[in-house]
Amino acid sequence: MSQSFTPLSRRKFLLVASATATTSILLKGCAGEPPSDKPAGSSSAPTVAAGSGVKAGEEPEVKTAKLGYIPIVEAAPLIVASVKGFFAKYGMLDVKIDKQANWGAARDNAKIGSAGGGIDGGQWQMPMPYLMTAGIITDGAKVPMYVLCQLNTQGNGIAIANKHKGKNLGLKVDPKFFADMKAGGTKFKAAYTFPKANQELWIRYWLGASGVDPDSEVELLTVPASQTVADMKRGAMDAFSTGDPWPNRIVADDIGFVSALTSEMWAAHPEEYFAVRQDWADKHPKATKALLKAIMEAQQWCDNFDNRKELAGILAQREYFGVPEAVLEAPLMGKYNLGERSIDDKQQAVLYWKDKKGSVSYPYQSHDLWFLTESHRWKFLDKVQYDEAKALISKVNREDLWKQCAQEIGVAAGDIPTTKSRGIEEFFDGIKFDPANPEAYLSSLKIKRV
Ligand code: CA
Repeated sequence: MSQSFTPLSRRKFLLVASATATTSILLKGCAGEPPSDKPAGSSSAPTVAAGSGVKAGEEPEVKTAKLGYIPIVEAAPLIVASVKGFFAKYGMLDVKIDKQANWGAARDNAKIGSAGGGIDGGQWQMPMPYLMTAGIITDGAKVPMYVLCQLNTQGNGIAIANKHKGKNLGLKVDPKFFADMKAGGTKFKAAYTFPKANQELWIRYWLGASGVDPDSEVELLTVPASQTVADMKRGAMDAFSTGDPWPNRIVADDIGFVSALTSEMWAAHPEEYFAVRQDWADKHPKATKALLKAIMEAQQWCDNFDNRKELAGILAQREYFGVPEAVLEAPLMGKYNLGERSIDDKQQAVLYWKDKKGSVSYPYQSHDLWFLTESHRWKFLDKVQYDEAKALISKVNREDLWKQCAQEIGVAAGDIPTTKSRGIEEFFDGIKFDPANPEAYLSSLKIKRV
């Protein structure tokens, strides 16, 4: 195991006996935020009693933490843990979830930490926690992070502007289409929400699988998730890759269509993660586990399709996503109008707790290895960095904490993975990634930089 937690002096706190909407308002008021104006009994009322999940000796060292999120469905477990009272259930009575302007802002806020007015952790695209730990996206300053759980699988897609409708831009594409655009003097522009992370990796994989070299045939650019719709509307790009509800909104607003869902590219793929600063977690080991337990419980709540309409209502609120509820509800229910075709399959929706491969929440180290291998494929990590990054997995990925928390909150033994590897993964183009032999994966790819 990596660094063990140092025991700290325990600070007792009063358990709040009941958790009505009133309690929530009082707590919010104490946190220096304007009280919620939601009536008691609204869909956002906590459903569990504050402190009810804290056993003797587990009282967290602090009741507060500041966690960043980006307004995409990946953030749902953080928002639900706050709104439905799961953080409070585990004694974290004053968790602030803080909407980040974009991924760069989230990274910068984690770099300064809550002590500097930033955040202690939150939602991340992979492999951002590794790139921060190694100082690769933080101007060389190392910002060590712990990955605590995966927040979700699926729920992402690649949207294309309407002017390219009818040109066979689906899961597979014709390289000639991109070559013709390039020859015509305007390369196909594809956007992602942060460089060198999930969304860029999905776009690159999608293109590369059809024999399109993303470095020479396409122009790649960064656009914040919340600006993707407006930017595509004004013609700033031909495609973008991001989380729901934004691809769905493109279709709803008749701006574009969706070429591929990530669930089609790699079913039950790793997507975004909950990670916190190592120094915060080492200083507050019980609070860290309390946060993780709350998020795991929120994931179970989010995963229940009976709760998804309510989830859409929560996320749609102005203070969270600020989008029409209907735009969220359809993809949350697995009902995707992709423009040129449609999908109605709950198993292809965003999933938070379980998928057909088993646990969603458990952070498989083999998935971290895929992200780092894929980063090396495109030379985002050179050979030296790649070799070091592989060794970082055992320090950054705290699957051990996930297992402890799962046992402590009573997750069934059958739902707790027994190996750190999910085994061989297969992509839509037939390529396989064997975590025991990532070099064979790299060798099998036609388009790569290594
Ligand atoms: Ca995503």
